[in-house]
Amino acid sequence: MKDRIVVALGGNALGNTPEEQLHLVKHTAKPIVDLIQAGHEVILAHGNGPQVGMINLAMTTASVSASKTPEMPFPECGAMSQGYIGFHLQNAIRAELLRRDMTIPVATVVTQVLVDEKDPAFENPTKPIGSFYTKEEAVQIQSEKGYTMVEDAGRGYRRVVPSPKPVDVVEKETIKALIHQDQVVIAVGGGGIPVIKKEHDLVGVPAVIDKDFASAKLAELIDADYLIILTAVEKVAIGYNTPEEKWLSHMDLQTCQKYIDEGHFAPGSMLPKVQAAMNFAGSKKGRRALITSLDKASEGILGHTGTLITL
Ligand code: ADP
Ligand code: MG
Repeated sequence: MKDRIVVALGGNALGNTPEEQLHLVKHTAKPIVDLIQAGHEVILAHGNGPQVGMINLAMTTASVSASKTPEMPFPECGAMSQGYIGFHLQNAIRAELLRRDMTIPVATVVTQVLVDEKDPAFENPTKPIGSFYTKEEAVQIQSEKGYTMVEDAGRGYRRVVPSPKPVDVVEKETIKALIHQDQVVIAVGGGGIPVIKKEHDLVGVPAVIDKDFASAKLAELIDADYLIILTAVEKVAIGYNTPEEKWLSHMDLQTCQKYIDEGHFAPGSMLPKVQAAMNFAGSKKGRRALITSLDKASEGILGHTGTLITL
């Protein structure tokens, strides 16, 4: 069966430096192209934590050095990360397609994701970004720039930004038009560039939308059949990293909620994936979500591995 699949790539698909990323995307492209070759429509989403951190850090350092590069706002850093990651991904996927004698256009869409100005996340910034500072530096930055600075696990002080929920994908019609033309699309990179509505304007805000939630929202909006979240583990576990560890092949929404309530999924890593999978699987009958590792994507879609989440 031909499915429309949103594939969300995790940090392990891209690595931490440009060299590492260029090398890793060649491997990442293979399971993606396997899905395309099997006849599926593939829309790719990805994270950007290390990349946007690197860009933000470089820009901040440059703005205080002699070069006096203007300071780059965080949403613009996010846009840069989408371009930089998209370049590597579309380049690698194109080459892998050609190696298999397939000429299919691949493009990255710089994607804005609408968030609600009244999202409670704005009252409570939680997502650390950029470099570490001493307490004195943090106090100075806080008073000069109005950033929220918090102590991060004994490693120093960091800026934190809110992580609001995605409401809409601004470029969804463009993405759909490309899908209808059988083109491969890379979108909502890093969860998308968060924007709020001000009359006719969309204004970028310093925030980070969770890439798993953004991928689920995109999958819902483009009426995908499948959301595949590819990460570093083949399956979701309960009792993860304990002697009682048990790997799961299938969860319905009730089971997911039960395990969430019991605290089986770590906030900031597995929890958002399970919640994103629930959002998508719960949005319409027949929609399925799969959490598995990059290498197991093709086997997973055949039902041979991974954790399937359904209504
Ligand atoms: P990504 O970059 O793909 O978003 P994350 O590190 O955010 O990856 O999340 C995936 C990680 O979540 C896994 O590598 C694993 O270490 C961790 N994890 C936490 N809880 C669980 C669980 N219950 N089952 C499986 N993995 C879990
Ligand atoms: Mg993650």
